[in-house]
Amino acid sequence: MRPRRLPMWEMQRYKQLHPLQPGERVDIAHKHCPAVMGGGEDKKKRLNIRRTDDGTTYLFRCNHCGYSGGLHLSPAQAAEGRRGRLNATGRRNHNVGNGHANRTTGPCILPKDTTFHYQAFSARAKHWLHRGGIVPTLVQKFKLGYSPDLDRVVLPVWREGELKCYQTRRLKDDDSPKYLSYGAANEKWLHIKTGSKVIVLVEDYLSAIRVSPYADSVALFTTSLTTNALNELIGCQYDRAVVWLDNDNSHVKRKERELKAKLGLYINQVDYVQSIDPKLLSDETIATTLGVVANDVTLDAFPVILTE
Ligand SMILES: [Zn+2]
Repeated sequence: MRPRRLPMWEMQRYKQLHPLQPGERVDIAHKHCPAVMGGGEDKKKRLNIRRTDDGTTYLFRCNHCGYSGGLHLSPAQAAEGRRGRLNATGRRNHNVGNGHANRTTGPCILPKDTTFHYQAFSARAKHWLHRGGIVPTLVQKFKLGYSPDLDRVVLPVWREGELKCYQTRRLKDDDSPKYLSYGAANEKWLHIKTGSKVIVLVEDYLSAIRVSPYADSVALFTTSLTTNALNELIGCQYDRAVVWLDNDNSHVKRKERELKAKLGLYINQVDYVQSIDPKLLSDETIATTLGVVANDVTLDAFPVILTE
C-alpha cells in the first residue's frame, strides 16, 4: 500500500510553528487528521515531528491516521541548525512567550562569519538597529555584530574580557524564533555599568543600551533574573531599581511581581514602569519615564568593550 503523505503546505506550517533544533522532537495535535470524523483536529497530540540529527530534514508522522512525510531544509536553514547543535548540550527551555527563546547551553562561540563592521551589515540589520535607536557609534561601542550566513544581528555579552553569552536576532519575519540565546543559563544577561545608583531591568539588549545614558541597566533576555545576575546587582549596592518590562500579558505581569519582590529584599526603592520597551522610545521619554536626567553619566562612561 502506498504510504499516505501529509501535504507540503501542512508540513511547512508545522515547521514554522514548531522550530526544532537538530535531534529534537515534539508531539502536537494533527489539525486536519483524516482519521478524525470530518477531517477535524486530533487533540491527543499524536502528530510527531522530529528534526534529524544532522539538521537537514523535518520528519512528520501522525500515529492516529498514519500520514507521514519529510521536509528538507535549504542549506542556509540547515546550517543554522548545525550551528545551534554545536553549542547545545541537549537541554532546552521553552520560549516564555515574549519572543525570547532560550535553548542552547555550553561553550559560547560566535557564528564564524560574524562581522563587527557596520558597513558590512545588511540593510535590514541597519534598519532594525536604527529603529531601536542604536547609532553606528553604539554598534561599535558594544561590539554588536552581524552574521551574513544567518542573516541575523549578533548581540554578544562580554564580562571580564570573556564572551559569556550572545543572542542572535532575526531580521526576516519568516525566520523564527525572534531571538536565540547561547551560553550557560546562568550567564545569559547583560549588565551595563555606568556608575549610577539606579539600576533599570529591561528585557532586551537594545533597551539596555538605550537606558544606559540615564542609569545602569540589565537586560534579562527573558523575564527572570538569574542567580548570578542577582548576586552581581546586590554587590553593586544600588539605591533604586526600576523594573521595565513590556508587560503585555499575564505571564509578564507575574514575572514583574516576582522580580520586584526579589529586588525589594536588597534594594530600598523598587519601582516598575508600565510601558513598551525603551528601545522604541525617544531619549526624552526614557528620561522622563525614569525621572532622571542624563547629566553626569555620558556615553563616555560606557565600559570599554574588549575585542576578541
Ligand atoms: Zn492524523
